[in-house]
Amino acid sequence: RFITFEGGEGVGKSTQIALLAKALAERGIDHVVTREPGGTPGAEALRALLLSPDNDWGDRAEALLFAAARSDHVEKLIRPAIESGKWVLCDRYLDSSRAYQGGAGGLGDEDILELHLIGSMGLLPDLTILLELDPSEAARRADDRDAGAADRIGAKASDYHADVRACFRALADADPDRFAIVSADGTADDVHARVLHAVDSMAAA
Ligand code: C5P
Repeated sequence: RFITFEGGEGVGKSTQIALLAKALAERGIDHVVTREPGGTPGAEALRALLLSPDNDWGDRAEALLFAAARSDHVEKLIRPAIESGKWVLCDRYLDSSRAYQGGAGGLGDEDILELHLIGSMGLLPDLTILLELDPSEAARRADDRDAGAADRIGAKASDYHADVRACFRALADADPDRFAIVSADGTADDVHARVLHAVDSMAAA
């Protein structure tokens, strides 16, 4: 099984992935936890280039670099793990490119999907959990926890983040078989219960 977590900054993706990993371990399910951009040495090197404030990437260059990082990640880590029967939990994946570079960045969904076909043979998750939170609450959480994320939020106009959020929502609404929209409101445990419900619904399907 291949499960991805998506959403804007500060919605609590990494907290929820850690809680899900713990629940899977308790059930004896072998799994790997990974993240995008990153997950392999090459993709982590690309992550450093992508997130460095010294590089003012345009949306096209960014989309190509994310696709390259994803290609390495899929080939060396994600696909082999799935083939060996492990569950893969990934913090961000294709849908982040679709929302950030494709939607908010203006590249369009078709080009992002085409890049994904070339880079990663179009591999899609079995389940994508979209964590949704009001952008002002997300900014507050990110601010409390992670100065880096707060800076990244601050560096872009707030309507950019509203665009990203709307793009994620549109992607999820268009593909209800793959997506579960989960409210990220409330405590980490509240959200975890919703995530587990989505995972169990997938497993039962
Ligand atoms: O918080 P996280 O580690 O997921 O941050 C990754 C950063 O990369 C975020 O600032 C996010 O906005 C950005 N990103 C992006 N396009 C993607 C994936 C991530 O702009 N396709």
